[in-house]
Amino acid sequence: MPTDGATDDIERAADLLLRARHVVALTGAGLSVESGIPPFRGPGGLWTKHGEPPMNGYQRFLADPAQAWRERLAPSGPMRELWKTVQAAQPNPGHHALVQLEAIGVLGCVITQNIDNLHRAAGSRRVAEIHGNALLIRCIGCARRFQRDEIPLEDLPPRCPRCGGILKSDTVSFGEPIPPDVLAECFAESDQCDCMLVAGTSATVYPAAQFPLDVRQRGGALIEVNPYDTELTPYCAVSLRGPSGTVLPQLVTRILRVRGL
Ligand SMILES: [Zn+2]
Repeated sequence: MPTDGATDDIERAADLLLRARHVVALTGAGLSVESGIPPFRGPGGLWTKHGEPPMNGYQRFLADPAQAWRERLAPSGPMRELWKTVQAAQPNPGHHALVQLEAIGVLGCVITQNIDNLHRAAGSRRVAEIHGNALLIRCIGCARRFQRDEIPLEDLPPRCPRCGGILKSDTVSFGEPIPPDVLAECFAESDQCDCMLVAGTSATVYPAAQFPLDVRQRGGALIEVNPYDTELTPYCAVSLRGPSGTVLPQLVTRILRVRGL
């Protein structure tokens, strides 16, 4: 009788997750695309339409924050379009599956490269957003985050209500260091992680690329959820082929069954 490879793989992945002490999910653009958010590059991408942001975007911001804000806020500018897209997007079954895994104590934290807030919108509680959150504004002085509508944008650049520092979008610009608080959280999570669920990302961009490799090097297991082979595939204990919105709910179903829930 032919065996169902996909079912076998789901079972093996569920087993690894249930045996792990600390599971971290690392997510990327594939998950967002399934919620209708175009990738930055490629057809319909934000940068395809508006041009690639300058590689020294952060340095340009620091040199003239008011001008950088004016450019970003222009009615046809990329920031307006990003806000509209992100505000209209809804979490997909992949996001909801990760919420469930956290709720039943299987998943410790989500580290995401996505800036679309969809993990939080779905209800994930522990989320480290490596590249920031497009709906938030961050003080470059004290690192406090504010909701977009908490901050008046008549006088540019806006100033931090707490420390008077200059505010910028929380999304990390080219040339900008990853905010130290987020980076520290990612490394703390990754350091304890003995099973990483890598969904919708090939994890080739630093620092995200470092986390699965560290876990693997310490003898932890990697589980990949991706429609395609990636550079990480050779290092994965299990590679689940398919969109996150299909595969992650299957994984949850299997785990609930094993747990008798
Ligand atoms: Zn501040």
